[in-house]
Formats: sequence, structure tokens, C-alpha cells
Amino acid sequence: TYILGIETSCDETAVAIVKNGTEIISNIVASQIESHKRFGGVVPEIASRHHVEQMTIVLEEAFQESNLNWKDIDAIAVTEGPGLVGALLIGVNAAKALAFAKQKPLIGVHHIAGHIYANRLEKEFQFPLLALIVSGGHTELVLMKEHGRYELIGETRDDAAGEAYDKVARMLELPYPGGPHIDRLASEGEASIDLPRAWLEDDSYDFSFSGLKSAVINTIHNAKQRGESLKKEDIAASFQASVIDVLTTKTVKAAKNYHVKQVIVAGGVAANKGLRTALTEKFAETDIPLLVPPLRLCTDNAAMIAAAGTISYEQGKRSGMDLNANPSLLLK
Ligand code: ATP
Ligand code: MG
Ligand code: FE
Repeated sequence: TYILGIETSCDETAVAIVKNGTEIISNIVASQIESHKRFGGVVPEIASRHHVEQMTIVLEEAFQESNLNWKDIDAIAVTEGPGLVGALLIGVNAAKALAFAKQKPLIGVHHIAGHIYANRLEKEFQFPLLALIVSGGHTELVLMKEHGRYELIGETRDDAAGEAYDKVARMLELPYPGGPHIDRLASEGEASIDLPRAWLEDDSYDFSFSGLKSAVINTIHNAKQRGESLKKEDIAASFQASVIDVLTTKTVKAAKNYHVKQVIVAGGVAANKGLRTALTEKFAETDIPLLVPPLRLCTDNAAMIAAAGTISYEQGKRSGMDLNANPSLLLK
């Protein structure tokens, strides 16, 4: 089976072709980071316009790299949500137009299902599995007992992990997106500043990062008032230590309690070196295998959408021509 994937939920225009849900044939990503950088974040109108401009170019490249043509494609999978509505609409409408013109089945995909299925491009899933999702808009623990079904066992009550990274980065006057910059600084600093860890209730797998973010603001502010200056490296290292401590501890606890056969990590923050190292070390002490995707598959791409779409295709799920962008689509 060859599935064509389309992803436009945020600021990357991406098209990919994936074979059997496990093998990348082509994977083209046009990033808009340079256009949004000077605004310190993604500007929705600019994102939509870029998607319109890039879509046909990226599509053509995906076919060129694949040596396939339309007759080889079994179905078109597209991110239907969540994300920026104007950005999603460009991908959904492109997918609908192509499905109609080329007479191919259409499959709407949840963006986070995509992030999860990025892992299957590396290694086959073992159920039950636990997925730690850490991205720009989501921080969740999801239990999967079979393909295409998702049970939410914990989620953030306020900021997502990636959002916290980007906000703290902005306080430290680092460029957008801030995650990778904090990651780099953290490796050069000491986690010498005492910052809180939001454990919440004993039996909760939920997360909270807004208190940590406020603690960082206060720490910087108080130091300034005392006429001291803290090293950016140490702030980054201390912040990152708090985030990683909570994420790894809760993930290990959930993995043990639910007796999972595999743990996977997904989303942009899964690219974080400190998090990857900490999770690898903690799971090495257990007998549960940990799967961490390669960096290029952590952030938004269309191969992950095609991979998740392949499961829907095999399960006979199809979307109609009434498929619409849904910015607050739930993962089920
Ligand atoms: P969502 O997937 O929830 O809809 P999104 O698609 O915007 O949100 P992703 O593209 O998955 O999010 O990830 C982007 C986020 O990952 C940004 O917040 C970015 O700062 C963060 N990020 C990327 N690399 C790193 C890193 N090395 N360390 C920490 N954060 C990182
Ligand atoms: Mg992005
Ligand atoms: Fe994403």
C-alpha cells in the first residue's frame, strides 16, 4: 500500500509517500520558521498564505523523489486537526481536490496520531504501548491496546511542554522556536537554581507547566532587583531539569502500572537531548523497551500522517467530501 500524506496544521507544509505504513518513500517538509521568526511566533495568516504557495511545489517534489506516479497511490491522508484552522484548511482542501481529481479514497488524520505513528516508521509497535506526547500544543500520556485506538490517561492542565520551552526562551531573549536553544544552553549550564516540580495528586498522570514558567519569571526578576545576573545557561539547565524530572518520572510510573510492552515518545520536544538521555537511562533500569524517533521525525512532517493514515485505510475508515478542518479535534 502506498499512502500519500499531507500536513499543514501549523507552520510546515509537508507531503510524503509511505509504503505499508512503515517505510518512507519520500518525505518533503517546507518550513516557514524564517518567516515567523521576526514575530516571535507563528502568525496564522502568514502560515496559511505560505501553505497555498508551497503546496503544489512540495507535492511535486514528493512524487519526484519517489519515482512513483498517481496510479501507484492507494489513498490520500491529510491532517484534519487539531491546529490552526486556516492552515489546516489549505491541506484539507488540497487533499479533497486531489482525491476528487485522481479518484482516490480520502482519509482524515488526527495530528497527534501522526506524531505517535512517526515511531512506526522506525520499529513495529508492541501492544499495549504507552506514548508520551510532548509537542508545541500537547503534553499527554496515551495508552494504546491496538492500532488506531487511543486512551488518554494524562494530559497538561495548562501549558504544553513545548509552549513552556518557547515562553521561557522568549524571557531569555532566544530566537523562535526556543526549544532547541534552551536544550543547547542547558547542556552548557548547571541546574543550580531550585525550581518547582508539579507532581499534582499522587495518582494523577496529568501535567502542569505554568507554575514552573512563573517561577522562572520570578527568579529572573528577583535576581535583577538584587542587582545580580543569573547565567542563561543555568536558568535553561534548571528549567529543563524540572521538565524532564516530571516527564520521565510519570512516564516510567505509568509504563509500570499499565504493564506496557513498549514506550514511545512523540512530538517536537521529543527532539530534546536532555529528555532523550533521561528517558533512555530510566527505561534501561526497567525491562520495558523505549522507542525514540530520529530527530527529523519528531517535529511536524507528512510521513507520520501517511503512517497513521495507513492504519485507517487498512481498517476501512474513509472520509467523505464533507471532510472539514477541525481545530479542536479529539484523539479517540
Ligand atoms: P502540536 O503537535 O501539539 O499541534 P506543533 O505541531 O506546533 O504542536 P511540534 O512541531 O510537534 O509542535 O513541536 C514544536 C515544539 O517542539 C516547539 O515548541 C519547539 O520549541 C519544541 N522543540 C523542538 N525541538 C526541541 C528541543 N530540542 N528541545 C525542546 N523543545 C523542542
Ligand atoms: Mg512546527
Ligand atoms: Fe506537531
